[in-house]
Amino acid sequence: MHFVPPGQEWIKVFKNRDNHVADAYWFPRPCMQCDNSPCAKVCPVGATFKREDGIVLVDQERCIGCRYCIAACPYGSRSFNWVEPPHTPQELAAKYSVELNYPHRKGVVEKCIFCPTLAREGKLPACAQACTMNAIYFGDQVEDVVTNHAGVSVSFTQLIREKGGFSFMEDLGTEPRVWYLPPRDRVYAAPKG
Ligand code: SF4
Ligand code: SF4
Repeated sequence: MHFVPPGQEWIKVFKNRDNHVADAYWFPRPCMQCDNSPCAKVCPVGATFKREDGIVLVDQERCIGCRYCIAACPYGSRSFNWVEPPHTPQELAAKYSVELNYPHRKGVVEKCIFCPTLAREGKLPACAQACTMNAIYFGDQVEDVVTNHAGVSVSFTQLIREKGGFSFMEDLGTEPRVWYLPPRDRVYAAPKG
């Protein structure tokens, strides 16, 4: 939905495999929307900032392209437009908004922004809407409710406690707002031989 330019991966999906017997599993890496966000701390012009609702945004109209934020982000979540991205008429017809981050432009930084325009409408982000495996939940930690593609709403606290949820590289003190549920209770194919 964001007309993400070629070469950028707002959610990069890594394939993990812990040992040769176990099946592989997947690790999607969006922007973690860190509460203690190193990207926002280093931005010299305030183009990257943390909103009260928890979303970390980038205002391309203020960004000067210094790329300090890319160096500061330990998750590799940010991309820089070295060249003018290709455009579609639909993208160019849109009025730039910091909540959309398009039309895209050369010389600025971009990243996953948790689809704030959809959140404003009470909808799930595009990734959660598209995840027909119902693997992605999105919600409000203060209200303690998260919801997936199937419309199933559960307690965030209970989900994390029961499934052993964790945040990625939380020891860095970034206070990421994305949690992962580790692969558990899975039935693996029997090892050959
Ligand atoms: S994941 Fe990176 S870009 Fe996103 S808020 Fe954290 S430090 Fe900033
Ligand atoms: S590249 Fe843009 S958003 Fe990143 S630190 Fe520099 S001015 Fe801020």
